[in-house]
Amino acid sequence: MNSARTSSEINRRHFLQVAAGVTAGVAGLGAGAGLGAEVPAASGAVKSIGIQVGAVSFADEGVEPVLDIFQEKGAVNTIYLTTFTYGRGLAGRQIAGQLFPDHGGQESDAGFYHGGNYATPHPEFYAKTALKHTRAPDHGGRDFVAEVLPAARRRGMKFFCSIEDVWRDDVPGVRELSEVDWQGRRVTGRLCPLHPEVGAFWNGLATDLCRSYDLDGILFFNEHNGPLLEALGASHGQQIAASRATCFCDQHRRVARERGLSFERAQEGYRKLDRFVQGALADQRPSDGYFVEFCRLLGEYPEISAWDRLFDEGKHQLLAAVRATVKAIRPELQVGFHIEHVNSFNPLFRATRSYADLATKADWLKVVVYNNCGGERYANYIRNIGATVFRDVPKDELLRFNNHLLNYGEEPGLGELAGAGLSPDYVFRETRRALAGVAGRCAILPGVDIGVPTGKGSRKASPADTYAATAAALKAGAAGVIYSRKYSEMRLDNLAAAGRAVRTTPG
Ligand SMILES: [Zn+2]
Repeated sequence: MNSARTSSEINRRHFLQVAAGVTAGVAGLGAGAGLGAEVPAASGAVKSIGIQVGAVSFADEGVEPVLDIFQEKGAVNTIYLTTFTYGRGLAGRQIAGQLFPDHGGQESDAGFYHGGNYATPHPEFYAKTALKHTRAPDHGGRDFVAEVLPAARRRGMKFFCSIEDVWRDDVPGVRELSEVDWQGRRVTGRLCPLHPEVGAFWNGLATDLCRSYDLDGILFFNEHNGPLLEALGASHGQQIAASRATCFCDQHRRVARERGLSFERAQEGYRKLDRFVQGALADQRPSDGYFVEFCRLLGEYPEISAWDRLFDEGKHQLLAAVRATVKAIRPELQVGFHIEHVNSFNPLFRATRSYADLATKADWLKVVVYNNCGGERYANYIRNIGATVFRDVPKDELLRFNNHLLNYGEEPGLGELAGAGLSPDYVFRETRRALAGVAGRCAILPGVDIGVPTGKGSRKASPADTYAATAAALKAGAAGVIYSRKYSEMRLDNLAAAGRAVRTTPG
């Protein structure tokens, strides 16, 4: 609709030739040995250069013009089409309060954005779940996988469907499958990963997509976290939510009982944790100090940690089950997981994730290393944890202490962190850590920040930032990158800078 781009046919042919060469290498990587079987050699291997894009961009700008831009500006050879979500991070136009980029629709889509499945759901795959009606109505029910996939194939590009565990409360079936907090209240739009009908939905969706279309695979997003980290504001949500920590539904009660884990003790532990958190926020210092009181609570109620772990295990079992389902359809199909941002700047969260373990569940990991918005998010984490568990520690000291724990180099102080963002060195170190952790058992594709929205006064992406972050990920030895979060929030000069980094970074 509003594409600013006009390219000559000569240019297009030239880039198609380049892209075809690039893709031939990636195809060799994906088939045969399999992307998951072997991390490609650092030198001379063709990198997988992907971009996340929602249906609205193809509706606004047209399929062929968008693919032209991806190849010409971004050196992209792999599409991650947001095929299922009700969220706004991966789908829809630019979000409210942010400037529109220099392409695509220039008005808010709040009036028509709904979300759901942007392909065609086939009912037979959803027989075992109440979640049967998810087709996205946004664009008259158009099937964007059917539209974009053949066009990508004609250019020799790889094509993955991104599916994200984000829901709206008015989808039929969602309320009944939602999580329950420790006080017994349903939590809007968050589905319990232990519920069999939730598992049946994700397996059904993955099966539907992989059987109905000739895909290369699935990228699965699930950013929900367990109750301990939610309570402390140390999870992806970045809200201190001690009063609403989940999940205490009947399914959780059943699974806990099988493990000899007491539902009542866990509930009591979370009640006391909430009292601790609310007391800290009200500046009521325990006589032994905040950190000691917190440690004592964990010692007296080991169920607090056990319940947090139960949630993570449920989530990871779900991911593993989806991969097993997909592999049973066609072994060469690839399944990757999005590893949320907190993993890189939050030692408490990091302790709940092991790359060695994740490597056994995925063909590749999309590791979030968003550097610009990373400053704002890291600062928020420090403020949250510094408001409760580490309330006795001056926050700038807490930040420096954390930098040591995380093996960060020279990063800005707390006052400047949001405005400055994190450095390319952060991208490099986090990519290296992921590669060392998986030890060649699966590939690492860092998610590069291209215009991820930030608040007023926080760092905004520039071409220099984008170039440096992309180059850092590649220099660290990653098998490629994934431009994130969605094309509809990326400026074209930033995308072109990422493409330049891909074309000029050796290795
Ligand atoms: Zn539950």
